[in-house]
Amino acid sequence: MAYRDEKLSEEKVFKDPVHRYIHVRDRVIWDLIGTPEFQRLRRVRQLGTSYLTFHGAEHSRFNHSLGVYEIVRRIISNFKDRPNWDEEERLLCLAAALLHDLGHGPFSHSFEKVFKLDHEDFTQAILLGDTKIHQVLSKVEEGFPKKVADVINKTYKNKLVVSLISSQIDADRMDYLQRDAYFTGVSYGHFDMERILRVMRPMEDQVVVKESGMHAVEDYIMSRYQMYWQVYFHPVTRSAEVILSKILHRAKELYEEGYTFKLEPTHFLSFFTEKPNLKEYLALDESITLYYFQMWMEEDDPILSDLCDRFVNRRLLKYIEFNPNSQMNEWMELYRLFQEAGLNPDYYLVVDSSSDLPYDFYRPGEEGERLPIHLLKPNQELKELSRLSDIVESISGKKRTDHKLYIPLDRLEEMPDRSKTKQRIMEILFG
Ligand code: CA
Repeated sequence: MAYRDEKLSEEKVFKDPVHRYIHVRDRVIWDLIGTPEFQRLRRVRQLGTSYLTFHGAEHSRFNHSLGVYEIVRRIISNFKDRPNWDEEERLLCLAAALLHDLGHGPFSHSFEKVFKLDHEDFTQAILLGDTKIHQVLSKVEEGFPKKVADVINKTYKNKLVVSLISSQIDADRMDYLQRDAYFTGVSYGHFDMERILRVMRPMEDQVVVKESGMHAVEDYIMSRYQMYWQVYFHPVTRSAEVILSKILHRAKELYEEGYTFKLEPTHFLSFFTEKPNLKEYLALDESITLYYFQMWMEEDDPILSDLCDRFVNRRLLKYIEFNPNSQMNEWMELYRLFQEAGLNPDYYLVVDSSSDLPYDFYRPGEEGERLPIHLLKPNQELKELSRLSDIVESISGKKRTDHKLYIPLDRLEEMPDRSKTKQRIMEILFG
């Protein structure tokens, strides 16, 4: 029997708190899960620094990847024998779902920003490079690794397959919303996925949802909207993220200045100097990153050791509402006052802005153009979701941005009350 068709003699199941069970019958999928590159995802948290806000949020990208695989497995098992569906694409869909986040590194958000990296490049490199994942995929058929890479890269010719994994209602989002809600313990993020899966239909170039499932889809859109503001952009999580970015900046800066570290930052050297190669990239996970942060608490550089202590011991920066666009003068004055106070403003005076577009209809040619959700009417006509749903229409295309200013309030409070600098800083910050 060809490797691509091989089944395990007995079905394997993973117990999962969100989907109850994750089912694996294909030998290929089982082999992919067993590779070191996939197992590494156990050591990368799904929600980065969110565990410092929601203590339950310790779940990993490994959990999430299995979840996305399971959702795609369920969707396409309903597609069998339907028009527009080619059963030959089944294994490709499953593999792409499982592997879509393979290139994520530790605390991806900050690492990508500070070191100018893109996890998607590393996903492609793992799929196509000299890796165990590549070996398994290559055994399926010639060119199969490239097909998986194309689906994840959204360039694969069959757009139906792409839309299962990346669209405004894809398996990726359906898994992370529910999983992140479960592990953070918030009451948002829940919607009737079973209902949505039952009414999904394959069309020539996308997955659509029967009109009868509209209210379940509305619930999904709203839960995404609420999760963004209640969980993903939580100001405390962002405080930890700010500190993390500043640690990376500081370590890099010190390295460039020729500072002698007590512990040679071996795992970071390729990040500091140029772009890490695949082997170097994969060697740095969150366990190792946190090990360095603990060691750097003992460094002589006061900024690096303070920032690491703040991250490790959760002494986060405090925040206030602050709009850098309309408060430029305050910003300039604060910058100067912080210097006077002996607090390096490049590290201790930080504006962070977050924004999200909850759902967007189709506006061709625009940047970040996104495929809208289509509902299938009983007469087989397709209608874009926001045209039928008032709830979705009310939040469509509306981008909201939230700005915060992060400061070490503890350090400011330590200054003597008679200090004019302190008085002026407090006046600007708190009025
Ligand atoms: Ca994902």
